[in-house]
Parts: sequence; C-alpha cells; structure tokens
Amino acid sequence: MSLYAYHPGYSLIRATTAVISFKGEPVKRVETKGGFFYVLKEVKMNTKEIALAVNKTERSVRNWAKKVAENNSVMAEKISASTSTHPADYDLSNCESYIYIYIGIIDADLISRPKHRFPNLACMKISGYMKSQKHNVKLITDYNEITNNTFDKIYISKVFTDTNIPEWVLQLDNVEYGGTGFFYDKADPLPDYIEHHKPDYHLYDEWVKNQLKSGRGKPLDYKYYTDYSIGFTTRGCFRKCEFCVNKNYNKVVLHSPIDEFLDEDRKYICLLDDNILGFSQWKLILESLQKTGKRFEFKQGMDIRLMTDEKARMLVESKYIGDYIFAFDNIADKDLIEEKLKLWKKYCTTTAQTTKLYVFCGFDRNDKWDYDFWVQDIKDTFERIKILMKYGCLPYIMRFERYKESPYAGTYINLASWCNQPNFFKKTSYRKYCEMNQERTKNNICSTMKYLSELELKHPDIAKEYFDLFYGALKSIINKD
Ligand code: SF4
Repeated sequence: MSLYAYHPGYSLIRATTAVISFKGEPVKRVETKGGFFYVLKEVKMNTKEIALAVNKTERSVRNWAKKVAENNSVMAEKISASTSTHPADYDLSNCESYIYIYIGIIDADLISRPKHRFPNLACMKISGYMKSQKHNVKLITDYNEITNNTFDKIYISKVFTDTNIPEWVLQLDNVEYGGTGFFYDKADPLPDYIEHHKPDYHLYDEWVKNQLKSGRGKPLDYKYYTDYSIGFTTRGCFRKCEFCVNKNYNKVVLHSPIDEFLDEDRKYICLLDDNILGFSQWKLILESLQKTGKRFEFKQGMDIRLMTDEKARMLVESKYIGDYIFAFDNIADKDLIEEKLKLWKKYCTTTAQTTKLYVFCGFDRNDKWDYDFWVQDIKDTFERIKILMKYGCLPYIMRFERYKESPYAGTYINLASWCNQPNFFKKTSYRKYCEMNQERTKNNICSTMKYLSELELKHPDIAKEYFDLFYGALKSIINKD
C-alpha cells in the first residue's frame, strides 16, 4: 500500500537526503523532480504515527487531514467516524487512493499576452502526468488565485522570454518554474516520465469556455486548444544558428512516436518539430502521419534549403492543413532559397494553401549592432520580402528582440504589421499600407507614416527600390519560367 503523506508544511518535502525512519524501520521515499514524494509503508498509520514519521505535530497532521477531507468524501467519512476526540486516533490507513495533492498550473503567456492563442505543451504534459497520479490539477488564469494558499504545488511555464511574471509569484516556496521562456537554451528538459506523458488536452477547457462566453473571439481562434493533438516527432537541428534555442543540438533526433500525443477525438495534428526536413528518417515520419488519417501541419517553419523533389511531392500529396510554413532567416541564402522555391512551386500548385516563410530580422551575426548594420538589415529584410512576392509566397516577419535598439525600430514594426496581415499585404504596397493608416488618423501624422518618412528621407535608395512593390504585380514569376 502506498500512503501519500504530503503537505506543504512538512519540512521533509525539502529534505532530500535524510533517511526517514519510523519505529526504527526505514520509510522508503520516492522523490520526484516535481518536488513531491510518497511515503511507502506496508503498515497502517494513524495521524500519530504519521506525525512521528514526518517529525511534525499531531495537530498539523490532523489539520492536513481536515484540509484533504474538504474535497475528499472518504477522508471526511473517516474523520467523522472517529469516536475519539484525540486527533491521533484518526485512522488514515489504506489512504493511497484518496489523498490528493493540489496542483496549480500557470501558462504565463496566457495570463500576460491577451492575444496569445496557443496552448503550452509543457503545462499540458505536467497536467497529464499529475492527473494520472490522481492529483487535483487546476489551470490558474489569474495570479490572485494563488494568494489564499490553495495549492500544494504550482508549476509555471512560459515560451516567450519577455512574458512578465510578478516577482512575488516566483519567490513562493511551492512554486517551480522552467522552460525556454525562463532559461532559453539553458532550460532543463522535463523529466522523461513527464516529457513522454500524453498531454492533458482538457487543461484549458474551462478557460476556453469562459473566453467564448465573454465574447473574446470565436471558436476558430481557440482551435489549437480544442481540435489539435500537439507534439514533437523529432527534436533538434544541426545548423546551430546563434540566435536559436536549438543551438546546443548537434542533429535532429527522434523524439516521440505519434501515438504518444495523439488524441483520437481530435481532428488535426500540430507538429512542433524544429527541423523535420533535416531528419534522416523524415519519410517514415510523414508516412506515420499519413497513417493516422488526420490532417496535420508543421508549425515551426520547415527548412526549405533541404527541399528535394521527393520531399516536396510527399508534402504536397499529404493530408496537410493550413499554410506550408518555411524559413528564410538569412539573405546570404538568397540563391539557394530561390532555387528551392522554384522546386517547391513545381509541386505546390494549389492556390488553396498558402506558402509562407518566416523572415527573421534584427539580429547582427557580426555582433556589431552599429548604424550600418541596422540600415543593411532593413534593406535585407525588404529584399527577402521582394523575393517572396515574386514566388507568390507570404512573408511573416519575426523580429529579434534587439530590433528595439535600431534607429529604424519603427520600420520593423511597420513591416511586421504590413506583412503579417495577409489581407493588407496581398492588396497594398508598403507605401500604400502606411498611407491607409494615415488616412484613418485625421489630424497629426500617424506613427506608421512617420516611420516611413524618416527612412525615406535618410535612405531614398531603399524607398525607391522597395516602398512601391506590390505582391499582386510580382507574384507571376513562376508562371513565366
Ligand atoms: S535552422 Fe532553424 S531550428 Fe535549426 S538552428 Fe537554425 S533557426 Fe534553429
């Protein structure tokens, strides 16, 4: 039998090496990385015995039992059935199946970024594991929920490094946090038993329901919470880009079989693989995905530099959903990317699915960060946009966080808002887009127009070459080839 003897007040929770004994006999302890533990003992233990084992007062054990009883009818019955007025006589034997701990899970991006619309996979895996251990799990959606000491343990995860979390939350004794949003490429991985646990696809149910009830968006806005199985079939990459969270990997490695994260009740699959086309067995992965019979997508930007006829044919013939997303991170790859775009477009002739490329900008590979770099980077970003226009592809601007240091930071903001809204990008040039913004601002010059004018004044050459380019006019190059 196993007795879960956990309480946030017990000092032994944090005593990692001491052997705990009871009546001279060692009590076996299994401590997980999550910071909670089980006391395993083939004996019956009442509150007095537990108090002895964990070196706490009987009163604190009784209080703990009462707290558990608030949400646990079996425990409540045991306490009310006790004939003694002395707390030590509560019989808590055979409690293994009904003493739970209370876990709070915080997806910090969800709390701090109102427009964020993608579930946190680590949170879902932690929740899946904790529920399998019969613990109570709740998604915390407001930091005020944790002020009343409701949770025995709180796990926090975030994906974005600039997502803010109040300092007092991080300093709570029962809080554990991790992930790339906190430690970037130095983040510890989840323990294997959690990393490879099926995600809890119901963690966000209540939140989604409340969002929709309050009129915040439509069901489609929450599709990744409600309709997709999410996971990594492979992890890592061999390219070691300096700015990338995957730079410590040497190669692409197999990570999870699809069954590990597939929920048969969900229609679609979203893959978060870092570089699927760089995996030696990419074909087997695509075949396994096909076998599920579900439509799937790779969300992280595939490496188009590795495109081949066979890869292109298989991807196009797959039950793919959504945009085909690739990356165009560096202007130095211009010739190779053009060659691969031509190859890709030979197979991808459909107009129903868009080909989109992430355009990463604002990162100085020579580590100078001087004026010349910022001007050249703006030029290179426009040039990549122009190339993508020619091939009928959409750019999606991804700004490295130091773009804010640029004297033309406003241009990066403009480019992101123009390119990342396909409805505008497809119909207007950069100049026209800025003018449309100005038209909506009746009196003063709007910031969008101000940023355009500043750059044009100092660098008329850039303005002349790029400001009036128009997707619709350029995108026919493939058909002419
Ligand atoms: S190719 Fe992509 S995934 Fe690979 S290291 Fe570079 S940015 Fe990261």
